[in-house]
Amino acid sequence: MVETLAGPRRRWCAVGGKGLMLTAHLPSGYVLARSWRGPVKYLMPAALIGSVLPDADMFWFHFVDQGSVHHHHYWPHIPAVWAGIALVTLPILYRFGLLATGAVFYTSIFLHLILDTIAGGINWAWPMASNLFVLTEVPAAYSHWIISFVLHWTFLAELAVWALALWIYFWKKTV
Ligand SMILES: [Zn+2]
Repeated sequence: MVETLAGPRRRWCAVGGKGLMLTAHLPSGYVLARSWRGPVKYLMPAALIGSVLPDADMFWFHFVDQGSVHHHHYWPHIPAVWAGIALVTLPILYRFGLLATGAVFYTSIFLHLILDTIAGGINWAWPMASNLFVLTEVPAAYSHWIISFVLHWTFLAELAVWALALWIYFWKKTV
């Protein structure tokens, strides 16, 4: 009985428990910053930090829960929590003249959550429900989860984000 439960759980952890997207969050934040219109203080730091911040819960995932809980169930990956934090902090940021910075930061956070919805799953309905909404599952088709992920079509989405970021960096100097 333990064996039959452990097997599927291990396979699930092998792919689903990882932070898919693997690499595209940071370049997506870069693209966001370069696409943003109007003057924004700390534009690039706000976009880049917001683009990766939810994955800070990976430390908890690895070192505290030992990979036993999908880290997308933790609060940094729950949209309603960020919406609440934004509601509280945006008026404060406004008083300090940082409303646009906050808008970039939270947009970047939600961009992270949208990208994670492609293959990782995000709990968009919390607190009404606790299930993760996911566009497509990446099956653990190969022995190592990175190989399974890189050979899945969703990796093209990662490459597309990278291509866009590199294109803007090298050829769109004024965007
Ligand atoms: Zn994430």
